[in-house]
Amino acid sequence: MYEKLFQTIDGQVDDLVELTGDLIRFPTVNPPGEAYTPCAEFIGERLKKQGFDVELVRGEGTPGDTDRYPRTNVVARFDGRGPGPTVHFNSHIDVVEAGEGWTVDPFGGVVKDGRVYGRGACDMKGGLAASIIAAEAFIRVNPDFPGAIEISGTVDEESGGFGGVAYLASKGYFSKPRVDHVIIPEPLNKDRICLGHRGVWWAEIETKGEIAHGSMPFLGDNAVRHMGAVLAAFEAELFPALDRKQTRMPVVPEGARRSTMNINSIHGGQTEDFRPGLPSPNVPDWCRLTIDRRFLLEEDIAEVKGEVTSILERLKQERPKFDYRLRDLMEVQPTMTERDAPVVTAVAQGIREIFDREPDYVISPGTYDQKHVARIGHIYDCIAYGPGILDLAHRPDEWVGIADMVESAKVMAIGLDILLRGGAGSRPL
Ligand SMILES: [Zn+2]
Repeated sequence: MYEKLFQTIDGQVDDLVELTGDLIRFPTVNPPGEAYTPCAEFIGERLKKQGFDVELVRGEGTPGDTDRYPRTNVVARFDGRGPGPTVHFNSHIDVVEAGEGWTVDPFGGVVKDGRVYGRGACDMKGGLAASIIAAEAFIRVNPDFPGAIEISGTVDEESGGFGGVAYLASKGYFSKPRVDHVIIPEPLNKDRICLGHRGVWWAEIETKGEIAHGSMPFLGDNAVRHMGAVLAAFEAELFPALDRKQTRMPVVPEGARRSTMNINSIHGGQTEDFRPGLPSPNVPDWCRLTIDRRFLLEEDIAEVKGEVTSILERLKQERPKFDYRLRDLMEVQPTMTERDAPVVTAVAQGIREIFDREPDYVISPGTYDQKHVARIGHIYDCIAYGPGILDLAHRPDEWVGIADMVESAKVMAIGLDILLRGGAGSRPL
């Protein structure tokens, strides 16, 4: 039913591999946000040649945006020959640092054994390349399609997406009536549909004390001991309570199918700057802890915060001189697209056609740019679907499979056909 589409994509495999390598060769490392502009321009040039209208949009004044490291995004749009919905493919172009342990050049785009290697191959330049090939093939086979297709390459996803999708969403690029359906080709595996992610609350807790000579600690008040009491209460009450909170969200891996909290850091008293000398003997008058709490659709953010503040307030009653300050650092609401949403059913049908099996429906343990699409853009018909293998993201010798990219490009093209042409396949409308 989709023969022409498949043949067209199969004919573009060399192009797909070359495109993926070209994208990897831009070292778009974040932080600091290297090579964003040339990478965005490269994507724009390619799509312009295919007939897309292309815009470069700088996330002016967003975190990290400077003239040396401008937050340059690219948004390309191809309008079909008639009214209809818009399908938007959004990929982030930033990658994390290469790190140690590579056996190939992380920014070489090396092709070996049916794979393209490099930092960002899987997360998510391979996904971006697959979506470009899918859209181009769809347009070539169906020049009269109604509606529109958009492809964006956006920055800073790895650091929260504020200069990328959040900025664009605040400017109307991810809102109705401009956009109806969003597919984010993050590496969630080619036969899985990611419906959303858990929520996030980052906070800093500070306990206060009073400085004194370390030989007479009773004259001061030790902020680190107060924090010890906080941690003891977390261990005794909070962590077991979080373990018990199960969710209907199909989070992968399964260990994340409940509430979790990480202690990101703890610092108190003098810093280690005295090295290689010796510290001076002081009672620490401050101690700070940062927490990373991941929460569920079934939980309310006020309740999540309340669990922590009630422990802190109780300690204030129980412990002499205990005082604290709690500072919110970041919060993200959990989001989950329903299984009967149009973009989900369209991509699910693509997976059935290509793999002859039902897709797995999953939820990401961590967040990605879907949060901004939903919260700022108010587009709830959004999923992550892409060819990369999740476990390879951010690792040394990251790669993306060429066959995986081809198959997922076919799934995406079928998704386009269903969303824009009602699943007419090779038939004219
Ligand atoms: Zn990613």
